[in-house]
Amino acid sequence: MFFKDIYGNTAVKHHLVRMVEDNRLSHAILFSGQEGDAKLQLAIAFAAYLNCENPHDGDACGQCPSCIQMKKLSHPELHFIFPIAGSVKKSSEPSSSDHIEEWRDFINKTDGLGTLSDWYDSIGVTTGQGIINANDCNNIIRALSYTSYQSRYKVVIIWMIERLFHAAAPKLLKILEEPPEDTLFILITEDRSAILDTILSRTQTLSIPAFTANDVSSYLKARFNIPAEEAAKFAEFSDGNAAMAVNMVLSPESNSNFFDEFIQWMRICLQADMLKILPFVDDFSKNNREKVLMFLRSSLSLLRQALYLNTTGKMSIPIPESQMATFTKFAQFVSPSNITIFNTAINQTIYRIERNGLIPLLMTNLTINLCRAFKKK
Ligand SMILES: [Zn+2]
Repeated sequence: MFFKDIYGNTAVKHHLVRMVEDNRLSHAILFSGQEGDAKLQLAIAFAAYLNCENPHDGDACGQCPSCIQMKKLSHPELHFIFPIAGSVKKSSEPSSSDHIEEWRDFINKTDGLGTLSDWYDSIGVTTGQGIINANDCNNIIRALSYTSYQSRYKVVIIWMIERLFHAAAPKLLKILEEPPEDTLFILITEDRSAILDTILSRTQTLSIPAFTANDVSSYLKARFNIPAEEAAKFAEFSDGNAAMAVNMVLSPESNSNFFDEFIQWMRICLQADMLKILPFVDDFSKNNREKVLMFLRSSLSLLRQALYLNTTGKMSIPIPESQMATFTKFAQFVSPSNITIFNTAINQTIYRIERNGLIPLLMTNLTINLCRAFKKK
């Protein structure tokens, strides 16, 4: 992946190149942004640029030996750390390197736009609670201690640094404090507020903007070969989240098809009426697995929209006029504190249903969990 492969983000690309040209490159940069933006793409393209033998016009050449290895994500001085399942047994020591093949596949399949939950799915982390562990920090210290023969920079990309396990923090801090020469750490986050102050103080933050609707639309057209009008519609709906837009393209039914059923379900959750839960779930469970999954994914998106509406007073997706009043009324029950519970509970249910879990049982549990979450508002 090179800068030319990334849609939009012109200012960030220039900024990164300028830092190198002006000799202002710090040893640790935090790429802070939101789901479905270009954070990871930019980190990889920057690593390629830094090590290219013949960079020109603000990008790597794409052809030198370094660029060829970067393209395959197999450059010996490009290191990745990402959240994986925590160790169940004390004796086993899982590390990112156990999953490096899956990681390369994940980046290739999603063009580096995949979400944390997509990643968890691809490595079978069921709880939605992957961590960056201390083994990884040890491995990095070891890897960085070898002399680099062929490249100018060793680049360590730590994806979703907010998932750093507390016991691993001192090790990472130590390397950030005394960084080996010619090493660049790129920390990536979607939740800067969850990062330890001690880590923040040792990094320089670079805010990565969301894609514009035009960027997403151009990407969808090129990637899926869909008509411009359709691409524009998905781009508009996704509010700059390219990962969400891709999911919409891949799921033929759009959010709005599920709107009435979603509102009916939310009413039951808000009323916490046990007598209504079972008939709803029985009826709902007659849908096939794919339809159930699409409904749950749409529900996630509608809940996010509700929070957005509730906190900003605006909608980022066009909801039909006839449904607006109902949706606005519902939105006031979604808050920053309960949205994370909804996300986790629904994502876990999606994960289990994808692996053939029993739909009536899982939907009953989920509905009861959502009833409780609404009470916590
Ligand atoms: Zn090159």
